[in-house]
Amino acid sequence: MIKPINITSLKTTSTLQYKCEKCGDYGTIKLENSIINVDNAGNSIYPLDDYKCKKCGEKL
Ligand SMILES: [Zn+2]
Repeated sequence: MIKPINITSLKTTSTLQYKCEKCGDYGTIKLENSIINVDNAGNSIYPLDDYKCKKCGEKL
């Protein structure tokens, strides 16, 4: 599971919260060089497919 948090009034964020369904690791990811655009429901407009668990490598 990975989802945008700390969404601004412009419906963007550079912070993602994740929880690995395989090993249970969780935390936040601060994006340094990109911004996520979110819809009215707070979901990313584009699929967040490129993120893997740092501990076990499972897709988040
Ligand atoms: Zn994991």
